[in-house]
Amino acid sequence: MSGAPPTAAGVRAEAREWLEAHWDPDLPLLEWRRVLADSGWASPQWPLDWYGRGLSSELAREATDERQFFGAVGPPIGSAMTLAAPTLLAHGSDELKRRLLRRILTGEDRWCQLFSEPGNGSDLAGLTTRAERDGDEWVVSGQKVWTTGAKTASFGMLLARTDWDTPKHRGITYFVLPMDQPGVEVRPLRQMNGHASFNEVFFAEARVPADNLVGAVNDGWSAALTTLAHERGLGGARLVATEGWQDGRTAREAMAEAAEYARTYAWYPQRAGRADLLVEVAREIGASPVERQLVADVITRTRVASWNVERGRAARAAGRPPGPEGSVAKLAGSDIARRSANAHATMAGAAAMLTGPSALRGGIIAEILISVPAGSIAGGTDEIQHNIVGERSLGLPREPSSDSQVPFREVRTNSPRQ
Ligand SMILES: Cc1cc2nc3c(=O)[nH]c(=O)nc-3n(C[C@H](O)[C@H](O)[C@H](O)COP(=O)(O)OP(=O)(O)OC[C@H]3O[C@@H](n4cnc5c(N)ncnc54)[C@H](O)[C@@H]3O)c2cc1C
Repeated sequence: MSGAPPTAAGVRAEAREWLEAHWDPDLPLLEWRRVLADSGWASPQWPLDWYGRGLSSELAREATDERQFFGAVGPPIGSAMTLAAPTLLAHGSDELKRRLLRRILTGEDRWCQLFSEPGNGSDLAGLTTRAERDGDEWVVSGQKVWTTGAKTASFGMLLARTDWDTPKHRGITYFVLPMDQPGVEVRPLRQMNGHASFNEVFFAEARVPADNLVGAVNDGWSAALTTLAHERGLGGARLVATEGWQDGRTAREAMAEAAEYARTYAWYPQRAGRADLLVEVAREIGASPVERQLVADVITRTRVASWNVERGRAARAAGRPPGPEGSVAKLAGSDIARRSANAHATMAGAAAMLTGPSALRGGIIAEILISVPAGSIAGGTDEIQHNIVGERSLGLPREPSSDSQVPFREVRTNSPRQ
């Protein structure tokens, strides 16, 4: 694109023209996604040099809406697209970007996030999984936990300690870990709602090629912050909009992929509290005036929260990186989820505890009640988001820390030294 700055109408017209020339609903999915990736229209907000068109996120959304309207299949969703790709774009070497970004756009590689450990979730910088250099490789030993999607991932975004003699934030390196190798063992965890979307991951001398580093050795923390900022800004974008795709081989393969992917996230709508069901349930049950107040309160908060999400989008469209508004959005989301679960439970009474097909709404209310707590934990707990908002938005004094300036080896932790 050259000359005058692109406009929404111009981008839509250009996207449409390209789709008319290239979309073929009977191509194998992978073949179509390769054509799309190479055109820059798969993720148009990415830079021109890296499979994008260098558009603002607002204009990129116009192009995506046009593609959806046209009925053409897009790139896959998942943490490869939402977390790994933006981190690689911001901190990865050109060689890594060349090797990994296109395969993310085509769906050939899925990724998982190997950050949290049994003793280190909120205090992520206290992690003790270690990596040591051995010739052309790094050797990794230790354990991660809560790793969503590890069973199907080709690569993990791995944080590991590479220097024990500097303060904790300065001895961490960010690796791209190949998951399919003898040194990596993935064990699924069963949750209280019956689903098993996350895993424990054990490393017993797992190997990482020396050039699979995101950023420099011991400087992984800044790349980790990029991943976390994108995670907070995610909201509920974990299900693919499959409606409207033109029928054909590409759409059929993409639907099968989306259905398989959605199995991991089948309970995520319930985790968000299902405010969308409140009015129907209120009608079905004949809610009392007090219960109707609860419903109105949740719907009002949902609407207000959506404006905050728009604010975040506008900030990104103006070129600002994801900031504390992501924390505000995340806090609003978990608050709404809890209030919505409370409204459901108040209306349903004891029936809210029943599961199975004959229960109220097929047991969905019970699943809401036991899934909602996850929203206040995943991606950084509510307390941690409060700390971020306090320190970065309100300018309050930083949380006192006794261990951020001393060599990590001297820090007393509750996790074993590997
Ligand atoms: C659904 C789900 C999916 C997840 N997926 C992934 C994943 O794919 N990859 C990954 O790496 N991790 C994942 N996680 C892990 C998640 O990031 C951690 O659970 C989270 O960061 C909290 O860490 P923790 O569980 O160790 O709790 P802890 O850090 O032990 O916290 C326990 C309690 O102490 C509070 N607390 C801790 N520190 C402070 C403080 N400084 N100030 C005030 N209060 C504090 C916390 O708020 C919390 O209430 C997932 C979690 C969930 C629930």
